[in-house]
Amino acid sequence: MIGERSVAVFYDERVLEHRPDAESPFLPGRLDRRVREILSGLTIKWAYPEHPGRITAICDRLQQHPIAGLEFRSGAVASREQLARVHGTSYLNRIDRLRGQSAWLDTDTTAVSPGSIEAAEVAAGTAVAAVDAVCNGEARSSFALTRPPGHHAEPVRARGFCLFNNAAIAATHAQAVHGLERVLIIDWDAHHGNGTQDIFWADPSVLFFDIHRGAPFYPGSGALEDVGAGLGEGYTVNVPMPAGSGNLAYIKAFNEILVPAVDAFRPELILVSAGFDAHRLDLALNVSYEGFAALTGIVQGLADQHCPGRLACILEGGYHLESLSGGVHAVLEVLAGGVPPEPGVTGLREVEAAAEFHRSAFRDDP
Ligand SMILES: [Zn+2]
Repeated sequence: MIGERSVAVFYDERVLEHRPDAESPFLPGRLDRRVREILSGLTIKWAYPEHPGRITAICDRLQQHPIAGLEFRSGAVASREQLARVHGTSYLNRIDRLRGQSAWLDTDTTAVSPGSIEAAEVAAGTAVAAVDAVCNGEARSSFALTRPPGHHAEPVRARGFCLFNNAAIAATHAQAVHGLERVLIIDWDAHHGNGTQDIFWADPSVLFFDIHRGAPFYPGSGALEDVGAGLGEGYTVNVPMPAGSGNLAYIKAFNEILVPAVDAFRPELILVSAGFDAHRLDLALNVSYEGFAALTGIVQGLADQHCPGRLACILEGGYHLESLSGGVHAVLEVLAGGVPPEPGVTGLREVEAAAEFHRSAFRDDP
């Protein structure tokens, strides 16, 4: 019998072999302006911001500050069939031919090293394994600590450090293999999940909710008015935010936009495209660890209410190693049964008491 708040954490060291910085001496000269912007301000030693140190920083943090109730499991390689539910044949063939090579996949951000293709297959397969764990009842929730990330990858195009769309592959696997009809994907990465949006644009069986820093921030998509098309109209929900947005705005968006949408949709599984670049140390948004924990609490409540707790998180971005590892830790604490905080509440009662004290002092003053 699984515990009330059992959490399966998936990690596979094969994802560390995606390392364009180590294998591509030509890379710094090709770095896009947007990547240089990410790098500036982040004190990291890697030339390619999406690097293996991201995963090891998370593992180190979890080792130094263990959380009771986590069960660590290894990942898996995605099958061609799983990848092909989302990506086109010619694209998959093109990616396959890059095995063992160093190359650029697009004109902006995405490169591969000799180990990258297997790493990307493991990233997608690990997201699938995280879904299997909760759909088979092996764990209440799960977290795939994996890379390269996925949410910018389109059906026939690699973008934004992403080769395969891990969350979309996991969602379509849940539908095809576990027979689920309605899957919710929540994307709280600071960047818009353009790839996930594209894949499910006309699909009413997947509700896609994406809160992100709005255009012209990368990738520039995700406008409020973009709500899907055809049968999928209304099943894409974008919430673009200005720079500096923090906990209270995010929580308000979740409570007032996500919660009613989910109550109407009644998902059977919830996936989170969990990026941590909305943290104040990272990319000009202002979400804190408390904020990520509070968002997790809201999502967990939705999962409890609609789909017997089935909740799988899949790592997306997050480039500042301290806030990335701290953010993942904060989410896992709540998944494992920790009480989510109410950010912004600390000190309010004291201020009210102090205001009352000073009001009476002024009143007594003749
Ligand atoms: Zn991001």
